[in-house]
Amino acid sequence: MGNRTTVEGVEVSTEHWIAGERAGSADVFDDISPIDGAVIAQVARGGAREVDRAVAAARSAFGTWGQTPPAARARVLRAIAAGIERRIPELAAVETRDAGALLRSMQRNVVPRAAHNFRFFAEHLEALGAPDFETRGHMNHVRWEPSGVVALITPWNAPLMLATWKIAPALASGATVVLKPAEWSPLTASLLADIAHEAGLPPGAFNVVQGLGEEAGAALVRHPDVGRISFTGSTQTARLIAEAAARNLTPVSFELGGKSPLLVFEDADLDRAVEQAVGQYDHAGQVCLAATRLLVHRDVYDAFLPRFLERARGLHQGDPRDPRSDIGPQITREHLERVDRFVRTAREQGARAVLGGEPNREAGGLYYRPTLFVDVPPGAEILSEEVFGPVLTLQRFDDEEEAIALANGTRYGLSAVVFTSNRARAERVSARLVAGTVWVNCFFVRDLRAPFGGARQSGIGREGGTWSFDFYADVKNVCTAP
Ligand code: NAD
Repeated sequence: MGNRTTVEGVEVSTEHWIAGERAGSADVFDDISPIDGAVIAQVARGGAREVDRAVAAARSAFGTWGQTPPAARARVLRAIAAGIERRIPELAAVETRDAGALLRSMQRNVVPRAAHNFRFFAEHLEALGAPDFETRGHMNHVRWEPSGVVALITPWNAPLMLATWKIAPALASGATVVLKPAEWSPLTASLLADIAHEAGLPPGAFNVVQGLGEEAGAALVRHPDVGRISFTGSTQTARLIAEAAARNLTPVSFELGGKSPLLVFEDADLDRAVEQAVGQYDHAGQVCLAATRLLVHRDVYDAFLPRFLERARGLHQGDPRDPRSDIGPQITREHLERVDRFVRTAREQGARAVLGGEPNREAGGLYYRPTLFVDVPPGAEILSEEVFGPVLTLQRFDDEEEAIALANGTRYGLSAVVFTSNRARAERVSARLVAGTVWVNCFFVRDLRAPFGGARQSGIGREGGTWSFDFYADVKNVCTAP
């Protein structure tokens, strides 16, 4: 395959992108498509050497990019957005093959959103400011100064969207970037490097080091010249990164796992609630925000369940490139087996599967049937551990108090979804839910000005809008005497 591969007719470099040039490594790793298990690329397997070079390149580029006026930085970001928009079909096709997301959703939502990330942070940069304030005649003025080199580490489930969500504000703030994409879906990061280069981003301002988490990722997060680490991934990996970051006192921003609840009160619009509940199977459940614990009031439980099952049974599972498909594959065989282990343990612990509960062999490959458990005994593992697959649980509650106790009963706190037609209740319940985001009568509506992150073990810090600049920049207060 050499240093390039062709995926769905698109040529992609399988090398790193360091200091504005392609660079290889002595070793490679196989990139396997979840659709059929085919090896679609052999990707450069970076380690400490490549990380050192990329961080040095980013440090050197910081000298110019950090000094580039905000309006000029914003222009480059907008050019990157336009470059992504021009290549929507290619980016969508490559990422679907690489990560298994539905092609139509990549084309319509995900890739356009990646472009929007750049455009939004360009605009936000130009509008950035806080009102000055006075202390005994002295004026306080807040500035967001470029901070240096930032390390970005991203997961496989939404590679392009999650990388651009971090790269755009980091570059907007004047920082320079080293990205280590997930080894299970490394390809769109490589295309993004080409796009950023064509858009006029100076060499070294954005670097991509490919490789495994425990090699390239670990080398990057312990590097003393890295000034910030933004990580999206699992809570387990976050612990390792936090330990490495602590040695250099590097600030971290963590967006981690979840086990979010979806609450349906007796006064809810049931059609809407059922539709959004079934929507939790999207991307075969490989979504951090997925509200995998359905909590339904006892008065509507018996109406909810058959409607849910009817809709869920109508979902078509298969090749994510097929327009008829609603649910694609699990990312790897190892991940599919992990999902199946959770399901088997749930059964052993007394839960009853009323839907799915096994791999979908008819669909071939790595497909797992959408699964719903009822009668789950309190304390069962399936109620507390993140499966990251199409596995939901359904529990009944008697009143608001019990609903909140169940909803808050895990170590996570990423998001929560509430269905009720009573505004006062919506406010009361939202205030008491432990979650970074609460959606009321909706799901997944994202405004990039809003803070995003998780409570408890779902994360540290918030990104989005000014919160992103607060993290990636050095925030400074200038206090001037009269
Ligand atoms: P993961 O933690 O296994 O890997 C994430 C990234 O970390 C990969 O790039 C990996 O190579 C790297 N990594 C692994 N070990 C490392 C180490 N020792 N040092 C440095 N880097 C290392 O997570 P995953 O399986 O790729 O992704 C799934 C997880 O991500 C789920 O828990 C999911 O909930 C979470 N997630 C969270 C959000 C969010 O916004 N909160 C979004 C998407 C996914």
